[in-house]
Amino acid sequence: MSNENTAKQKNIYVAKPSLPPLGEYTTEIEDLWHSGVLSNSGEKHRKLEQQLCSVMDVPHLSLFTNGHLALEAALAAFDMEGEVITTPLTFASTTLAISRSGLTPVFCDVKPNDFTIDPTKIEELITDRTAAIVPVHVYGNICDVTAIDNLAKKYGLKVIYDAAHAFDEKLDGKSVASFGDASMFSFHATKVFNTGEGGAVAYRNPRLKARLESWKNFGLESGDGDISIAGTNAKMSELAAALGLCNLRHLENNVKKRAAVFEEYRKRLAGVCGISLWEPQENVTHNYAYIPIMIDSRKRERDSVLAQMNAQSIFPRKYFYPLTSEHPCFNHLATDSASEATPIAYRASREVLTLPIYADLSFEDIERVCKALLSSLK
Ligand SMILES: *Cc1c(COP(=O)(O)O)cnc(C)c1O
Repeated sequence: MSNENTAKQKNIYVAKPSLPPLGEYTTEIEDLWHSGVLSNSGEKHRKLEQQLCSVMDVPHLSLFTNGHLALEAALAAFDMEGEVITTPLTFASTTLAISRSGLTPVFCDVKPNDFTIDPTKIEELITDRTAAIVPVHVYGNICDVTAIDNLAKKYGLKVIYDAAHAFDEKLDGKSVASFGDASMFSFHATKVFNTGEGGAVAYRNPRLKARLESWKNFGLESGDGDISIAGTNAKMSELAAALGLCNLRHLENNVKKRAAVFEEYRKRLAGVCGISLWEPQENVTHNYAYIPIMIDSRKRERDSVLAQMNAQSIFPRKYFYPLTSEHPCFNHLATDSASEATPIAYRASREVLTLPIYADLSFEDIERVCKALLSSLK
């Protein structure tokens, strides 16, 4: 295809927010105009919290302005100091939340098959300063929760999952939100379920509730309004919660459509030389949030594939590049280069592209993405 032709084609981005029909949202927010309650745990907030507890099959959940602050809140709730073992193949938010909480991130490598934290490499990183493990269910791949749980028990560590990619997933029929001490979810516009901006912490211990709720409301305690935790403002607004109530009604259908998008990619890309396509984990009910592919660097440079696809108005993403451990603000933590310290994560950061996927991605657009990808590999 010539450039003159492709220049006119519409852009295909990696993600597109799911939105309810506009009328459904305006109906949902009508009572806010009557009540005048726009924040501070109003009716929409309470409803969304209840419905999410039921969707995720967890006893307790607290809503936040966004996933990042939800993770900071979860870390604050356990009142920890010292080191936190985590992975660098994630969105910068995970590592930033740890370091902004006054904790020191310690980077562990990932497994080559699913890019989640490698439990066999955790133990050698545990010191007497280790307080917690923050594993990431990256690309919606669920971590080896049993091995992580065993290590946490053996060494008395907290486990807080970054489950931003794993909303609504199940492992052997068990909700992803039921593992560890707490799990953070993001409801950012680009995630499988969104409230525009938003997030949550899901947990089983009821004693966490008061701390999480007070942290997001400046640290104010109910009753006299004393402040004993230095909190912040991270409350979800009623307008965001109302969008969440609408989007939840369409969740099941959206995940079905995402699954169909993935199947179409799989039909077109299975067995293509030079790439390996994401494989759904056995025993996991996936949400099809991301479709990572690895471009074999011996065959083609990932960045040249990306550039050629961009030239055809298709915008897959390098999730995640660079590794969070490579960002200048974390340079002081490194003793080895990222390629030596976490070689498998490093290779993934150089070879992975995530392909466009969203509920309404048409099969014609998938065909365009695949043709552009295949021609860039020739
Ligand atoms: C999206 C995301 C976050 C942050 O969530 P926000 O709601 O955008 O603040 C954290 N970790 C991972 C892995 C994410 O993908």
